[in-house]
Formats: sequence, structure tokens, C-alpha cells
Amino acid sequence: MHSYIPLSPTTFLERSGQAFPNRSAIGFATAPWAIAYPDKIVTYAELLHRSRCLAQVLKRLQVGYGDRVALLTQNNQQTIEAHFGIPAIGAVIVALNPWLAAQDLLSLLNYCEAKVLIVDASLSEKILLNPLFALSHLQQVIVIDHAANPIYSGVLDYETCLAGENGDFRLDQTVVSELDPLAINFTSGTTGRPKGVICNHRGAYLNALGQALMIGLNRASKYLWLLPMFHVNGWGHIWANVAVGATQVVLPDHQIGDGYADLIQALSQYQITHLCGAPRLVRSLANAPGDKRGFRGLTITTGGAAPAPTLIQQLDEMGVNFIHQYGLNETFGPYVVCEEQEEWQALPPSSRAKKRARQGVATIHAGTGLRVVDADRRDVPWDGRTLGEVIVAGNTVACGYYNNPEATEKAFRDGWFHTGDMAIMHPDGYLEIRDRLKDLIYVETDYGWENISSIEIENVLCRHEQVREAAVIGISPEELGKNRTLLVAFVEARDSQTLTGEDLRHFCGSQLASYKQPQVFLFTDLPKTATGKVRKDLLIGEALKLYELKI
Ligand code: AMP
Repeated sequence: MHSYIPLSPTTFLERSGQAFPNRSAIGFATAPWAIAYPDKIVTYAELLHRSRCLAQVLKRLQVGYGDRVALLTQNNQQTIEAHFGIPAIGAVIVALNPWLAAQDLLSLLNYCEAKVLIVDASLSEKILLNPLFALSHLQQVIVIDHAANPIYSGVLDYETCLAGENGDFRLDQTVVSELDPLAINFTSGTTGRPKGVICNHRGAYLNALGQALMIGLNRASKYLWLLPMFHVNGWGHIWANVAVGATQVVLPDHQIGDGYADLIQALSQYQITHLCGAPRLVRSLANAPGDKRGFRGLTITTGGAAPAPTLIQQLDEMGVNFIHQYGLNETFGPYVVCEEQEEWQALPPSSRAKKRARQGVATIHAGTGLRVVDADRRDVPWDGRTLGEVIVAGNTVACGYYNNPEATEKAFRDGWFHTGDMAIMHPDGYLEIRDRLKDLIYVETDYGWENISSIEIENVLCRHEQVREAAVIGISPEELGKNRTLLVAFVEARDSQTLTGEDLRHFCGSQLASYKQPQVFLFTDLPKTATGKVRKDLLIGEALKLYELKI
């Protein structure tokens, strides 16, 4: 039809390849950082050609419409190419979390019945040498950089495959319906068993354009990849960058390690304009030693967990353009944004930071499909007090879970996706996440019980100058064998030699209602998921163990 073409992010690259053939699509930040601006770049014409070749390779391997192609890769050029080459033939991207254990990876590969796996040589051992590998459904494995060190037989080398094609295959010709699946993303599993979230072409297209607007990407942008590309397809930012003709800068093997100070140098070296990451990463960057000039004017977007107001204030002082978004796997990533109002700029810095730590309002692409409702699905009052569940519906909400009708029916019902996140609405219409439904801490009080938010207590703890990060959990009376909930604070101290539980007890005593004050303080490194969420499930086990031993 002349007035309707299925929306698909694959079209972004066909356009940018034509509009900006000589512009740099991908740059490589190489250590040592002091050397000149990326010596190697991939132009838009090259990215288009290579992605088209990858589509041809997959077709030659008999990958059909709707078949799954798995990726086990770090943040690299090939992952970007795969985000165009795979959907261009109507196949479905399954980007796996490379930090998962080998048996989990193999069970996910089997679960989604991937036909082809594209894997980095550096990650291949974990899978290809595992005895369980023989049981997988895979028909072909393509190893990136295999020719350089050919250790396996029966696998294909990525570059050799691409070199065998002519690139004469347009990326925008195959998608039949914009509602067909484009990707399956497994939830990170802070709670329960992973679920394969199905994203369609239309949602990915709209999310990418929405994200380009929300974080202010344009063709002059230089976007440094610190967010893992496997996580919700890098929040859609691979497609968003290509849509506007920006440059994506990747680190070798996505290795940050302890090199935050180097990274800070790289920001100015490569004139980075944008980066994204969970609050923990942003905090590490902000606290790393070194010249912070590269932060001035830099746009940093965070999400995945709530940033502490102290972090926001610190970034403000450093001249960062800070953006806070909230979303889930099931919303293709960011769905809510804390839009800053002009009048907040006149507030004292700490009050302004507190407002900006709230999750905010719907993004452009989310439109009006955002509510906070009570158990009867009535909108909660905008009183800054009444808790309700966040529910969403719209063009960037997932279709459901792959091959899991029970989980789909449970979460996607009555026309809304039920996030499981509990929030309040402030009188100005800004939403503030208080907790995940499961992680809300119920405590007994003198007058009955209260739902308390671990985030609130964690924010107070983070205000203590010796506290780097904190996570608070509640151990229920059942788990404890007592009649009251025990609040336990796990604290990462800046200097664990000097800070004591007594100091923190005193500190909380002056700032929190008594029923919100942790009774136990434990000093430790916080366990995290690959995407930076604190593993509170592990902390509960840890606390119980310690409780038995010494409390
Ligand atoms: P995932 O699906 O793995 O991306 O995890 C999504 C979950 O992370 C949400 O349901 C929230 O519980 C949490 N989350 C994401 N963004 C934020 C944020 N800005 N503030 C607080 N929690 C967040």
C-alpha cells in the first residue's frame, strides 16, 4: 500500500548508509587512551554493506523467517551488524548475557531453539567445549575472529562468511508484518525464572526514535557503549544511533575492569557526547580519580535502578547533562523519564536532585499508556503517598513471553502489562518507584504494619559520607523464626576500617522513622546481576547465614 510500509529498525541503516556513506558509524576506543582518535572506523557505507552480507550468510544457512539466531557477544562491531542483518531476513535476535553460567546459556539456547549462534572467540570456549553442547538444537555456529586462531572444527568464521557475499540484499525488503517478532530478550532474573520477552519490529522502531529524542542523539553525537548491548538490545540505542547517523564508540572486549580513570581520559580524547549505564557504573565513573573535564556537557543516562539523589547532585556539580529513565525488558527498555522542569533549577541543589531521582512521566514513545493503580485497577490519587502498581500499555510494550502462555497471561492481562513495580504519584504527576512488588518490606509497627521502601532507606544511608552504596532487605518473621521483621542494611563503605554499625545506627536514627531504621549493618561488596541490579535474593541468604552465626 502506498501509504503504509511496515515499521522496522532495519530501514534506519538503509537510509543512513545512503545519506551518510562516509560518516563514521562505529569508532573503536583503543588503549592506551592517549593515542589519536580511533585509528580504525567503520563508515555507514561499510556498516550497511557488512550487515547486508550477514543477512545473505544467514539466508545461505537456511535461516528462515521467524527462526532464532542467538548472539553470545561482547559490545562490538559484529553485535551492531547482527542487529540489522538478523531481522533483515525476518529472523529473531536472541542476545544472550555472556556473564551467565555455561549451563544457563545452553538451556536458553535450547529453550529458544536457536538455529544459528554467533559467538565471540573469547566467549566460545564456555559453550562449544561444554559436554552439554552436543544436546543443543543449533545447526551452525559462526565464531567471530575464528580464522585468527582456528581451534574448532565444524564452525564458520564470521569474516570469511561475510567475505563470500556481495552485499546485494536490501535490509528493508523482507519484513512482512511490523508486528512480527524481531528479538527475544531474557529477563535478567532478579526474581524468579528467566522469561523470553518478545519484541516486535514496530515497537523497536518507535522505541529507537523515542530514545533518540529523549536522550538528544543527532548526527554529531558520539555515543560510548558502556551499557551491555545484550540487555534489551542496549535499550534500543544501537538502532537509535544508526537512525540519526551518530557514531557509536566501542571498547575492546567491553573491558572496563578497574580502568575508570582511563575511561575518563577517553571521554575527552574521543569527544564522547553520550553514555548510559546503571547507577553503579555512573557512580564509579563519577568517583574515579582524574581530570573530570570530559564530563562537562556530557549526557549521561541512567536507569535499571534508582540513582541516589547524592549521585545526581554530584553529576550536576560536574556539569553533566543527567537523564534518568525507568523501564523494563517488557517495555523495550526506557519507558518513563524524569523530565526536568525549568523551575527546579532555582531549587537548592539537594531538593532539585531529589526531584530528579524520581522516575517521572511517560516518554514520547510511551505516550499515555502509563498508570499507577490499586488492587481494583483504580488510579491511585496523586498524593505522594498511596502506593500502587505501575501498569503500561502501548506501542513499545512487548507482545508476551516466548512459549510461555502462563507467564504471559499472568503479566499481560486486561489490556495492560503489569510491571510488578510499586510506585506513588506525586501531586505534579511524577511517578516514583518505591519497590518491586516482591521486594517491598513489610514491617510491623506499633499501630499495625507498614510497607516500607528499601530505596528510601538506601538513599538515607548513601547520604553518609563514608557510604559508597547500600542495599536494605527485610527478613520476614517466618524466615527468621521470630515475631518481627528484621531490617538488614548491607553497606559498601568507602573506608571499611573506620565506619561502624554504631555510626550508621546513629545516622539513621536522626533521619528515619524508627520502624524504618535497620537493626543490623553488614559491611560487604554488594552482589550484582550483569546489568547492575543488586541481587537481593542472595543478600537474604547471606543475612540468614550471618544471623545464625553471630547475631
Ligand atoms: P529489567 O527488566 O531487567 O530491565 O529490570 C527492570 C526493573 O528494574 C524494573 O521493573 C524496576 O524494578 C527496575 N528499574 C528500572 N529502571 C529503574 C529506575 N529508573 N528506578 C528504579 N528501578 C528501576
